[in-house]
Amino acid sequence: MRVLVYGAGQLAQMMYLAGAPLGIEVEAVDVSSDTVVHPVSKLPLDASLEQAIEAADALTVEFEHVPERLLEQAEKSNKLMPSMEAILVGADRVREKQLLETLQIPNCSHRIVTSLDELDACISALGDKLIIKASRDGYDGYGQWRLTSADQLEEIKQALDGLDLSAVPLVVEKMLSFERELSLIGVRSQNGDIKVYPIAENLHYQGQLHVSVAPAPKVDAALQQQAEDIFKRLADGMQYTGVLAVEMFQCGDQLLVNELAPRVHNSGHWTLTGSDTSQFENHLRAVTGLPLGDTGARSPAAMINIIGCGTFSRELLSIPGCHLHWYGKTVRDKRKMGHINLTAENYQMLGHKMQQLVAYVP
Ligand code: ADP
Ligand code: MG
Repeated sequence: MRVLVYGAGQLAQMMYLAGAPLGIEVEAVDVSSDTVVHPVSKLPLDASLEQAIEAADALTVEFEHVPERLLEQAEKSNKLMPSMEAILVGADRVREKQLLETLQIPNCSHRIVTSLDELDACISALGDKLIIKASRDGYDGYGQWRLTSADQLEEIKQALDGLDLSAVPLVVEKMLSFERELSLIGVRSQNGDIKVYPIAENLHYQGQLHVSVAPAPKVDAALQQQAEDIFKRLADGMQYTGVLAVEMFQCGDQLLVNELAPRVHNSGHWTLTGSDTSQFENHLRAVTGLPLGDTGARSPAAMINIIGCGTFSRELLSIPGCHLHWYGKTVRDKRKMGHINLTAENYQMLGHKMQQLVAYVP
């Protein structure tokens, strides 16, 4: 079987590695040049995009910002999973909020803004602590502006001046003081079976994910159930096939959905060593019509991103239960270069191993 992934980064690479033992061949599309490449070497393969689409059993994406003309072409083949509509929900915060409202899923108080004059009304409605988000092309905290008091409004308006807000509106959210950030990764098969992983707790720094711990500590059955109900409503509501990630804020005992990612997700990388079936394998199983695999956690697990640095000691592998995934990319500031997965028999040991890591990663 063959799966074509739009996007040729680390997620396509990890899908390739998960597919090999199942006899699923994964190819990637470099969307900047419309070329079909090997997901690990990134070298061009001997097929045009049209030929690769024709030869594939399923088409999928590793990121949501795939040019729409490519998505349209992919959708026409009737092999794209999840659907173009689901991918566009992940790529556009306005569509995302509309879906959450339609499905009555709790989310952060917000306003959709199509001109800078409307920002004053946002302050009256939501208060003067706001996060202003471009509705398209944002990731890892890029395309966001924070307002912490009303006097910053003029400065922010200047920074936003020049954006075409009628074409790409802003989503203005109340800045929440939440307990913590959680995510739920789940998978839905073509015939509607659903399996979800335990909730992960995510630590962000400057808008970017640094660490995930799964299962998240202090999650009672009611909270896990609340997250699973949200997942089911979303996945069924979109007739979704594949892995879907739901980022949430925990406020008291309520979960508010922040973002959806229609794909395998950084906060699910722990599943490579912490679960019986990784998110990458389950995504491939779903899009190729195979039975879904077990999503339980074997033991507490942590995923630590290696960000913006290429020099660290591989001696970190001496820590028991420590695994490295290096993506082989050129080093750039704030770029995700690789990640480390840790497992341990309990949270205390996990914390201890995370402290040991500090000696190896700058
Ligand atoms: P992206 O991950 O696409 O950059 P997010 O909407 O997930 O965008 O925002 C990035 C991070 O910014 C979140 O993980 C969270 O830490 C913080 N953040 C986003 N929205 C809010 C909000 N309304 N209140 C407080 N913090 C927020
Ligand atoms: Mg996010």
